[in-house]
Amino acid sequence: MNLDVNTLFMVTIYVEAILGLLLLFAWAQNMAIRAVAWWGFAHLIRASSVVLFGMYGSAPELITIDLANALLFTAFAVTWTGARVFDGRPVEPVYLVTGAVLWLLVCRLPVLADAIEMRAMIASGIVTAYTWLTAYEFWRGRGEALVSRWPAIFMLFAHGALFLLRTPLVSVLPWSPTNNNIFGSVWLTVLSFEALLFTISIAFILLAMAKERTELRHRTAAMVDPLTGIANRRAFLHEAGGIAKRHAGNPRPTAVLLVDLDHFKTINDRFGHALGDRVLEIFAATTLESLRATDLVGRIGGEEFAAVIYDTNSDKALAVAERIRDAFAKAAQEVDGRPVCATVSIGVVYCDGPVLDIAELLAQADQALYFAKENGRNRVEVASLDMLLKRKDEALAPAVSAAGSVAAQSAA
Ligand code: GH3
Ligand code: MG
Ligand code: MG
Repeated sequence: MNLDVNTLFMVTIYVEAILGLLLLFAWAQNMAIRAVAWWGFAHLIRASSVVLFGMYGSAPELITIDLANALLFTAFAVTWTGARVFDGRPVEPVYLVTGAVLWLLVCRLPVLADAIEMRAMIASGIVTAYTWLTAYEFWRGRGEALVSRWPAIFMLFAHGALFLLRTPLVSVLPWSPTNNNIFGSVWLTVLSFEALLFTISIAFILLAMAKERTELRHRTAAMVDPLTGIANRRAFLHEAGGIAKRHAGNPRPTAVLLVDLDHFKTINDRFGHALGDRVLEIFAATTLESLRATDLVGRIGGEEFAAVIYDTNSDKALAVAERIRDAFAKAAQEVDGRPVCATVSIGVVYCDGPVLDIAELLAQADQALYFAKENGRNRVEVASLDMLLKRKDEALAPAVSAAGSVAAQSAA
């Protein structure tokens, strides 16, 4: 296959410019992810550097080699800065221009003026450094579960490695231009073609990363309680239902805790709503500390929380509930310097068979919670059959006495 380098240059300029504009357009539509704008500018800068490279022979080398390379390195530095911005790290203005400045200094050194291979090696080193730094930034942010992060890391690493290998490979493929025409160099064709493919792939991967993050954030926002940062009611029920289904074939002993803050209305009235919010945050934080990562916790109402503890027994579940109650009472004794003394009541239900219906377990935990409130608050009660029967009797009692008084009235 014969590839004409001049055509390749024209195509590259066009593609770089279009991709740059595409990324800027994507950023204009969703300005929340500023990195996309950095990446857009990186492509436009690269387009301008290829324009200068293409003028080789018809303009001074100061422009077509020195300046063109300085622009190319800046483009890679801007992509790297975009990766930092993407993961919330600050812009490093000095390192942003280090590659370009270093290159321009190297070009001024008389010893390197004719050492073309040495200069090519320095140029490759600068590109590789920025490309690998970009891959490293994405690697550092891998805690955020974005699938597209991995192809980005791979592409950047591979592109950097190829640039670094360029110098030793020069001996394999002839670097020297054929017929005294630099555009006839096989190397230039290979590298230009690889650069074109890389730039297209990386632009789409970066765009995919930004899109994936936006979707992830929307999904998270719909599932997380913004005040406490834990699962909201919908997410809690969804997750608990999903886990119950997965465990259906191999049921694991499970406990459900239902928690309600005591006299919370009074706390709001005495100390203000904002301090009430702080108390809710403190409760979520202390509960998270008292649970294992495999347990589940959610805010299922204004001042009501629920937790599911897996692989437990009734004693352990009771101990966890007591720990949560005690830790919170201590943490909320004084909030922002005010003597709040907030406490919680907890209803616990234990289930050693398959969890068929999480709503049913929550209803039983609610019965236990009722007794915890009845028995003086700041305490834990475990749901029992006796409790359920007693609650049923209480529910029936007013109806029976009302029926009795109606009977008495009609007799009179
Ligand atoms: P009890 O011990 O019987 O549970 O008494 P209580 O005062 O906690 O019960 P009640 O259900 O009457 O009051 C709940 C209060 O929780 C009322 C409501 O204003 C408050 N609340 C609900 N959501 C929030 C919130 O997001 N922030 C704050 N600060 N208060 C909230
Ligand atoms: Mg309540
Ligand atoms: Mg309450």
